[in-house]
Amino acid sequence: MIDVAVVGSGISGLSVAWHLSKKGFEVKVFEKEDLPGGNIQTVKKEGFILELGPQTIMADKRVEEFLSDAGIEPEYASERAKIRYIYKKGRLISLPLSPLSFLKSPLLSLFGKIRVLKEPLIAPSIKPEESIAEFVIRRLGKEFHDYIVAPFISGVYAGDTEKLSVKYAVRRVYELERNFGSLIKGAIKLKALGPAGRLISFPGGNYTLIERLSSELSVDTENVVLKIRRKDDRFIIDAKNGKYEAKAVVVSAPATSAGYLLRDISWSASQEFDQIYYAPIVVVHASVEKGSIPEGFGFLVPRVEGKRMLGVLFSSQIFTGRSPEGKELLTIYLGGATDPEVVEYEDELIYSLVEKELKEILRIDKVQFLNLTRWKRAIPQYTIGYGKYLDLAKTLEEENPGLFLTGNYLYGVSVADCIRASHDVAERVERFLTRR
Ligand SMILES: Cc1cc2nc3c(=O)[nH]c(=O)nc-3n(C[C@H](O)[C@H](O)[C@H](O)COP(=O)(O)OP(=O)(O)OC[C@H]3O[C@@H](n4cnc5c(N)ncnc54)[C@H](O)[C@@H]3O)c2cc1C
Repeated sequence: MIDVAVVGSGISGLSVAWHLSKKGFEVKVFEKEDLPGGNIQTVKKEGFILELGPQTIMADKRVEEFLSDAGIEPEYASERAKIRYIYKKGRLISLPLSPLSFLKSPLLSLFGKIRVLKEPLIAPSIKPEESIAEFVIRRLGKEFHDYIVAPFISGVYAGDTEKLSVKYAVRRVYELERNFGSLIKGAIKLKALGPAGRLISFPGGNYTLIERLSSELSVDTENVVLKIRRKDDRFIIDAKNGKYEAKAVVVSAPATSAGYLLRDISWSASQEFDQIYYAPIVVVHASVEKGSIPEGFGFLVPRVEGKRMLGVLFSSQIFTGRSPEGKELLTIYLGGATDPEVVEYEDELIYSLVEKELKEILRIDKVQFLNLTRWKRAIPQYTIGYGKYLDLAKTLEEENPGLFLTGNYLYGVSVADCIRASHDVAERVERFLTRR
């Protein structure tokens, strides 16, 4: 009998498995695809390093510790990646990085800036839950929402601020209002105006992380798990390649898949998890001549500007070695919760939309397309009322000792969130396995 069966070899599953196998437990990871990694996929093509999924990881102390324990050397983002742009009325405006530059920036009108400065005077809401849009417009005004928060949210969640819950999608912001009555006052008190860590990737791309973790683990690819059942004090895992028994199971597959696997254990959970909406994303990689784009991380396009692109990363400017000599690598995102139908378009239509907008915004003459990836179910949306799914996951675990759930639909969507949550989950699994 295996000590721990881990379903899914995305970063959530691999990092839980890694912690537990370091503690000496026998761990087996089941993966339905032919390669581990889930959303983390890197492709090398014509001298470019293309990230099909996540590009950058915001590494705080806990993430850095994990990487160092796993013996993985990160690559830090370049200094120029601190420059970020927002597209507004035909031009790219750099995102202000200090209160003074905010006041001088043309990103918001004078009225928009005054509205932001009034934030400490706005009373907290008495509503139990608000959308991000409601919350931000109430506290900081519509311009701040449209030109700063909404593009940022589309950069993280590919999400719709009208639908995402401030409480579940950006909990830290929600707590600033609850604990300090004001975001500005709270951020000043907590000295929380800067970034939460350092942006990293790895030499050779993010897949280096997956290769490193899986090289030390037993990862059974092309072995989809079909059902998980409980039998006395153990779990039976029905998978494509056979039946397995485990003392504990960690399900790190996406919500719908997790619910489906657990249908024998909880029919209602399988029905509920199936309702979680994952926004689709189209990722296009393109190359342009060196010197034809400004220096920086890239730009976000506010929805109010009426373009189809959500944002563009200047990938070759963020990390080294991403493009051959004389070329820049761009990664372009489309779709998301506000424009989901793009994912169904033919490649040629997507390329022509992107080419037209890149030429308008960056004023470049020539774009060479390298790759197109469709993520039909990319990022789970923590919408209003999302708490019921979190409660359900907790109840499932409480009612089924030895069953643990993790993944980006529970503890945050970033790679760093998944790494941090996996550490906590691994500690809970260890306590379960070593209980008397
Ligand atoms: C296009 C895109 C861009 C992103 N950009 C960033 C970024 O820049 N920075 C950032 O921090 N985050 C980013 N994210 C988010 C981040 O990549 C994900 O939230 C994270 O990688 C999810 O990891 P996970 O292990 O929870 O899930 P997944 O990566 O989805 O892994 C789940 C795994 O479970 C497997 N599985 C499912 N069902 C079964 C089954 N029945 N049996 C066996 N295996 C199964 C799947 O095949 C998959 O390998 C991005 C995501 C996408 C899609």
